[in-house]
Amino acid sequence: MLNDSDRIYQNLYGQQDWRLAGARARGDWDNTAAIIAKGRDALIEEMKASGMRGRGGAGFPTGLKWSFMPKQSDGRPHYLVINADESEPGTCKDRDIIRNEPHKLIEGALIASFAMGANKSFIYIRGEYYNEAQRLQSAIDEAYEAGLLGKNAAGSGWDFDLILQRGAGAYICGEESAMLESLEGKKGMPRMKPPFPAAMGLYGCPTTVNNVETIAGVPTIMRRGGAWFAGLGRPKNAGTKIFCISGHVNNPCNVEEELGIPLKELIEKHAGGVRGGWDNLQAIIPGGASSPVLNKAMADTQLMDFDSLGAVKSMMGSGAIIVMDKSVDVVKAIWRLSKFFKHESCGQCTPCREGTGWMMRQMDRIVQNKASLADIHLLEQVTTQVAGHTICAFGEASSWPIQGMMRAFRPEVEARAIDYQPPVQAQAAE
Ligand code: NAD
Ligand code: SF4
Repeated sequence: MLNDSDRIYQNLYGQQDWRLAGARARGDWDNTAAIIAKGRDALIEEMKASGMRGRGGAGFPTGLKWSFMPKQSDGRPHYLVINADESEPGTCKDRDIIRNEPHKLIEGALIASFAMGANKSFIYIRGEYYNEAQRLQSAIDEAYEAGLLGKNAAGSGWDFDLILQRGAGAYICGEESAMLESLEGKKGMPRMKPPFPAAMGLYGCPTTVNNVETIAGVPTIMRRGGAWFAGLGRPKNAGTKIFCISGHVNNPCNVEEELGIPLKELIEKHAGGVRGGWDNLQAIIPGGASSPVLNKAMADTQLMDFDSLGAVKSMMGSGAIIVMDKSVDVVKAIWRLSKFFKHESCGQCTPCREGTGWMMRQMDRIVQNKASLADIHLLEQVTTQVAGHTICAFGEASSWPIQGMMRAFRPEVEARAIDYQPPVQAQAAE
């Protein structure tokens, strides 16, 4: 289990003062100018050495992403856009960072922006986070008043402005290029990639999009060193992560832990265990709605990191762990997700626009016990025609929950078919 001294977030539960005075007492904003004085290249190298992988869900190496930003200016401004559009069902970690540790995010924005040559950064926060937006704006205001933002930010010699922008409630605006469109005042629809944002991002300028948790971790990594962060977790899966544990556990919570912690240990030590005990566990969605569901046998030995979950064709995603005990109709739970994805598709590309509706209608038939085995087979075929054939990763996000359900719960799904035949041995036994 992670030592308290290795936690990035000392006030995750909001027991202390979130304002500047409280943040300073916890070590935030301590000689930030000295960090910046190390220079852009040194900061990017430190980030690479830390092994930090993006905490929004995709796990792309952060230092590498920063290094894609042009070193020489061609006259275009550079931007850092911070993704606070936390919309993945089950995910509520960025919300708590913003509520209780907003100055880690603000200081991180300054350091990261300097490292990428950006004098301006936008935080795009989901519209539903109204109270969080108010609090974050208060923290930004006090940082300006204290000279930590604006001209010669924190005495670093770097001019830096931080702007908070509220979204309007569309899940797809969390996709980085849809977010850039939305910031530009257009409909939030993903762009074709490449070009990636570092080449052509906000207003056609070099841009990096990073998640809140990624940026809020930056000041601690720069103070304690990349080697400290890299020493936590597992190889290629370094550091700590905030996991959001919800569903049928005795104590739903957000908790910062090392990557690679066993899923069972995480739930039993921090969330009070599964309701009715571990044997009452039926299924776990390990990384937000788009991550394929695990059955109990899979969950028993699962480690929580990008590569371990990738190895079982699931994913760590945003770290949102949704626990379902034996009272749950798992097929119905996945049907509900297919409804969500149908609703949130931006409709721009045909496989996703048509496919999400088709998948939802087939799932409707399955939960109502009106589907045949051929319908179930067709549903599986549709998922393979959507995933990998769309403009953005939403195509995969909408298909993977169904593919995961078929891997982990095929007998339960097929047993609902109108032409289902129980296995021959079972008939003989009767
Ligand atoms: P992605 O793998 O396409 O990209 C991840 C990041 O790496 C992006 O910033 C992208 O620009 C960059 N990148 C990837 N390949 C690159 C290349 N060749 N050159 C330069 N940059 C490159 O994934 P994505 O669509 O950004 O994110 C998908 C993930 O988002 C899912 O895994 C899901 O877990 C997560 N998600 C999270 C939330 C949330 O609320 N936190 C919501 C929805 C989805
Ligand atoms: Fe829009 Fe879906 Fe295409 Fe993404 S995959 S661009 S959400 S229609």
